[in-house]
Amino acid sequence: MVESEAHKKYEFKRTLEALRNKHGRGTELISLYIPHDKQVHEVAAQLREEFGQASNIKSRVTRQNVQGAIESLLSRLKLIPKAPENGVVIFCGAVDVGANKTEMQTYIIEPPEPIKSYKYHCDSSFLLTPLEEMLHEKKTYGLIVLDRREATIGLLRGKHLEAMAHLTSTVPGKQRKGGQSSHRFQQLRLIAINEFYTRIGEAASEVFLGVDQKDFEGIFIGGPSPTKEEFESGGYLHHELQKKMLGLFDVAYTDESGLYELFDKLGEALQDVEVVQEKKFMERFLRELVSDSGLASYGEEQVRKNMQMGAVDTLLLSDELRKARLTIKCTNCDYEVKKTITKKPGDEEYQPGNCPKCGSSLKVAESVDIVEELSTLADQMSTNVVFISSDFEEGNQLLTAFGGIGAILRYKTGI
Ligand code: ZN
Repeated sequence: MVESEAHKKYEFKRTLEALRNKHGRGTELISLYIPHDKQVHEVAAQLREEFGQASNIKSRVTRQNVQGAIESLLSRLKLIPKAPENGVVIFCGAVDVGANKTEMQTYIIEPPEPIKSYKYHCDSSFLLTPLEEMLHEKKTYGLIVLDRREATIGLLRGKHLEAMAHLTSTVPGKQRKGGQSSHRFQQLRLIAINEFYTRIGEAASEVFLGVDQKDFEGIFIGGPSPTKEEFESGGYLHHELQKKMLGLFDVAYTDESGLYELFDKLGEALQDVEVVQEKKFMERFLRELVSDSGLASYGEEQVRKNMQMGAVDTLLLSDELRKARLTIKCTNCDYEVKKTITKKPGDEEYQPGNCPKCGSSLKVAESVDIVEELSTLADQMSTNVVFISSDFEEGNQLLTAFGGIGAILRYKTGI
C-alpha cells in the first residue's frame, strides 16, 4: 500500500466519488457524523430512538431497510469505544445495485479534518457535503496589480485565480497642456493619483475583508516601480490588510492578465500552495518534452515500460484518470491477456467476449485501478508520484493530450 499524503487525499477524493454514485430506492440511506467529543453511548441512544420512530414509515420496504441500517450502525458502534481525533463518519443503507436488487452496504470513514457537528441524516443518497468541503483548499491570497492609470484586484483561492474588481483613473499623463503652470499641473496630478490610490484601497477592503479572515493568508502587489511601492507605503490599505502584506513584484500588465503575470512570479512565495508545486512538475515535464532531451515520457504503455526499467524519477498522474487494468483469462485454454479500460463509477460491467484461440468465453480474472497499479510499481522503483489536478491549463493538458499519465525520466531510454 502506498501511503503518502497526496495518495491519501487522492483516495479520499475517489471514495467520495464512489459514495456520490450510491442511491437508495427510498429515503433509506443513513449518514452518521460523529465528532471526536461526542459520546458514543449517546449516539447509540439516539439511534435507538430513531429506530422506534422509523416504525411510523408507511412503506414496508423502506421501513425494513431503515431499521436494518440502524441495527447495522448500532452493531458497528459497539466496535468504536471513542470517536478518533477527527471523528468518524458511517454511511449505511440498502444501496440500489441494479437488476431490481438492493444490498446493505456500510462505509466507515475517518475524515482528514475534524468533524464539526453531530449529524444523523436519512435520505435517498448519502450526505457528503461536510466531507466534500474538506477537499477544497481554503487558503486565500489577495492580489493587486496597479499603475497610475489602471488597477485590478483578484483572489487566489486554492487553485482558482479570479479577478474581482477593475478600476481606471483620470490621472493626467506627464505632459501638461499648454497654458497650464507647471506647479499647478503637478498639484492636480498628485491629487488625482492620491484619489485613485484611495479608491484602490477601498476596493481592496471590500474584496479582501469579505473573505473569511482565518483563511486569508495575505496580499501581494504587482506593478511598475515606484508606483506599487508608493501605494504600499502610502497607507492606502486598511490597517488590518496592511498587516497582511506579503510582497511586491514587478509586473508589466495591470489588467486581468497582470494578475496571472503576478501569480506566475509568486512561485517561491507560495511554496505551500499545491497548485504551484503541480505547475512546477508539469512545466518541467513539458520543457523536457519540447527540448527533445529524451527525459520525458507519456502514455500508459511507454510510461509503464520506463517504470519497469526503473528509469522514472517522477510519475505524473492526472487525478481524473479513471481506468482499470484487467487480467483476462480464457475459461477453457491457457490464453491470457492484459487490457486497460476506462472505468467510471456506475459504468456497466466490462464484457470480455470470446477467446481468440479456442472460441470459449473469456472472464475478467483481476481488475486493478490503474492508479493503484502504477503507484505500487512506483513504490518498488523508488519513483516519486505526483497527482496533477486538471484545474489549471498544464494539468488539463496532461489529461487531454497525454492520456493522464506522464513521466520525468532519470536517464534517456529511447522508449
Ligand atoms: Zn481459449
